Amino acid sequence: MKAARRPQFWYKLAMWIMSIVICSLFIQLGALIMSDVPTAGKRITQIDFVDTIQLDDVDSRIDRNEVALRTTQRDIEDAEFVLSSRTLDYQNQRASFEDWIKTRTATAANSQNSEVVTRVQAIEELKISERDAQRVIEDLRVTDLALRRAQQDLFAERAAIEDAAIAPYQKAHSREVLKVFGLRLALTLPLLLLSAWLVAKKRGSQYWPVYRGFVIFALFAFFIELVPYLPSYGGYVRYVMGIVLALLFAYFAIKGMNRYLAKKQAEEERPETEKRNAIAYETAVKNISEGICPSCDRQFGAVTSRKGEKPDEPPVDFCVHCGFCLFDRCAKCNTRENSFFKFCGSCGTRSDNHAAVRTG
Ligand SMILES: [Zn+2]
Ligand SMILES: [Zn+2]
Repeated sequence: MKAARRPQFWYKLAMWIMSIVICSLFIQLGALIMSDVPTAGKRITQIDFVDTIQLDDVDSRIDRNEVALRTTQRDIEDAEFVLSSRTLDYQNQRASFEDWIKTRTATAANSQNSEVVTRVQAIEELKISERDAQRVIEDLRVTDLALRRAQQDLFAERAAIEDAAIAPYQKAHSREVLKVFGLRLALTLPLLLLSAWLVAKKRGSQYWPVYRGFVIFALFAFFIELVPYLPSYGGYVRYVMGIVLALLFAYFAIKGMNRYLAKKQAEEERPETEKRNAIAYETAVKNISEGICPSCDRQFGAVTSRKGEKPDEPPVDFCVHCGFCLFDRCAKCNTRENSFFKFCGSCGTRSDNHAAVRTG
């Protein structure tokens, strides 16, 4: 059973909607402010920290070397062509000389001696020019090898120049991350502090629905606008932050529970009239109809539901835990009624002095 007036339900709902609307308006305003906040400008990259003068120098040397390498390669190809044609000349000359010598031995003419010398000389010359061609190729190969090694060294030098930029870049990057986070923290922290203060001090205020909208907004800002920008430092900050939040939550939950238990214990010591006055009418009617003692918040014996009392358990009139009067009887017609009802449901007699009736 609910004792709250019907419009109160709609009022509560409307107030929740208003809280959400206020929250979303704040979120949009916040997004607008965040987009106008000057960030660090252009995002820094590793290229910004490379010594470009050195890098350009190395690059141009690499290019020059590359050109020299290509030229040497072509020279080698040309020289190989020359060599193969000279080898061929030499072999042809030699083969024809050998054929000629064979026929000469057969005839054995003395007059041909000078021709032998001339022919051998011609073969020697061809052999020498073949050797020269080979030497040219060997020299070119040496140059080629030197150029390749120089190229390797240049690439290593280039990599070293780029590597030198890593450390300063990382330093600058983490500085930038910290700066962005600091900026966001500076904008979010006042919101969080203000909403913590509102939660602590203004929860009972009739304007709470408005404050509640702001508090939800602050939580949104914290989790969406701040937490993702936490500097990571390899995860340390995030985990430490998570642990701190969990500990804070546990601390306030335990403290709140203890305060609640102490409050309930203190209440149980007070006289019943005082207890009754401290309990809100709506809460009391609702709790008793659900089988909860409105004074000690524990479940009392048989649950009296709308369907009637449970048949196998006798109806309970007093809380079995704290002795609080839950049901009493109408002074006029003796009907059993929720002790918080202001009028007898049977005969309509005003029954607002239960405590006095029972204690007297
Ligand atoms: Zn009780
Ligand atoms: Zn009555």
